[in-house]
Amino acid sequence: ETRSADDYDMLLKVVLIGDSGVGKTNCLSRFTRQEFAQASKPTIGVEFATRALTVDEDLVKIQIWDTAGQERYRAITNAYYRGAVGALVVYDVTRSPTFESIPRWLTELREHASSDMVVMLVGNKTDLTDQREVSVQQGQALAEQEGLMFIETSAADGSNVEAAFTRVAEQIHSAVR
Ligand code: GDP
Repeated sequence: ETRSADDYDMLLKVVLIGDSGVGKTNCLSRFTRQEFAQASKPTIGVEFATRALTVDEDLVKIQIWDTAGQERYRAITNAYYRGAVGALVVYDVTRSPTFESIPRWLTELREHASSDMVVMLVGNKTDLTDQREVSVQQGQALAEQEGLMFIETSAADGSNVEAAFTRVAEQIHSAVR
């Protein structure tokens, strides 16, 4: 039996949020296309990308939304969050201010999103070891305090990006089936 691209068991909308420059677009491109871009270019136009994963024998299509640069203007629209069942809240482990912004992003998320949304805190850019400003322990502590899943990633070398999206998908899948 062959399955077409539209023949999936579950479609999950997952949103990416966090300060500008933390690596949201590159986490998305790494996961959906195995691509990383060294140069920072503002995300314009691209609204989402999808990738299918097999979770417990179900073909789960993850539709991942990127902010398209809206976060720069603090004007993420309701449409962005509508229907989302998962969120990756991303900071940059080499820039403390992006970690300090997390509570503000969580407040916004809770205003817009349903309370049963699966949320993962993501510390990105772990490849930049000698520039680290936020420790693993700090990330873990915040995640615990806020009741979030937690992971550290590098979109540059690819580590844990797959795991971040997969764990969120598995968590959502086990909650709804
Ligand atoms: P966004 O604004 O959150 O979407 O961030 P981008 O994905 O555009 O990334 C901002 C900058 O950080 C770009 O120059 C990327 O190349 C860089 N970047 C993103 N992820 C990583 C990473 O894991 N490691 C390193 N070293 N750079 C990264």
